[in-house]
Amino acid sequence: MTQTGNNTPAALVTGASRGIGRAVALRLAKMGMDVAVVYAGNHAAAGETVQQIEKLGRKARAYACDVADFTAVKALCEQVLQDFGGLDVLVNNAGIVRDGLLLSMKEEDFDAVVATNLKGAFNMTKHLYQHFMRKRYGRIVNIASVVGLSGNAGQANYAAAKAGLVGLTKSTAKELAARGVTCNAVAPGFIESDMTAAMPEKAKAAVLGAIPAKRIGAPEEVAEAVAFLASPTAGYITGEVLRVDGGLAM
Ligand code: NAP
Repeated sequence: MTQTGNNTPAALVTGASRGIGRAVALRLAKMGMDVAVVYAGNHAAAGETVQQIEKLGRKARAYACDVADFTAVKALCEQVLQDFGGLDVLVNNAGIVRDGLLLSMKEEDFDAVVATNLKGAFNMTKHLYQHFMRKRYGRIVNIASVVGLSGNAGQANYAAAKAGLVGLTKSTAKELAARGVTCNAVAPGFIESDMTAAMPEKAKAAVLGAIPAKRIGAPEEVAEAVAFLASPTAGYITGEVLRVDGGLAM
């Protein structure tokens, strides 16, 4: 590790209680990082992630916080910086879906998805911006989706939020590049998690049929891409969107 500041590198991962976020948190811990585990309300799952990180010999602490809440995120960031003595990596992974065709999509379903998936990443980045800037080092990785690149019937809210996240990623990258801070996005395809487990079988079969690799991806496969972009050696890569999708969105 070549980053400056605190001795042990530290990462904050949102949505780290389950699924892709947990796999990312564990992968970063295996790289030698302490991890702030941010989650919405699933205390047991967050506690399990913390335990698994501690088993790897790294420090971890769980923080319940709604990433969509600007004021709460400000307090969260201050607390995490105090608890960990600084941060090197931010992974904006927290996300939700509220699927439905536009015709039937409720206003609150649009707002909730944009608030969590897009504004959540803005809130976190905004409140850690000065920290990374002053430190002249940082790795920000936003978890987008191939749906944000291609659109998807029944997911106008989610696709809009994820496409917005790509714009946020590139803008952040341009603002912070000269300060040694990178910002990239990882766009997963169809990955095994609670989110996809809730999909109807027919929809799952349809997506599987469209994936050149002919299989669903594992959260750990997304975590590998995040780990690469979060590493000190990826310092000349910024504003990139890396698909991890078995070829789905080619
Ligand atoms: P998941 O299993 O449903 O986990 C979602 C995580 O986000 C949980 O840790 C949850 O916390 C947290 N969360 C939700 N709302 C939050 C909020 N308002 N504030 C803080 N934390 C919140 O989802 P996943 O499949 O791992 O997806 C992770 C990310 O990858 C999401 O951004 C998703 O859009 C993206 N993605 C997933 C796939 C896929 O196929 N699975 C594909 C493309 C992109 P609690 O446990 O406390 O509820």
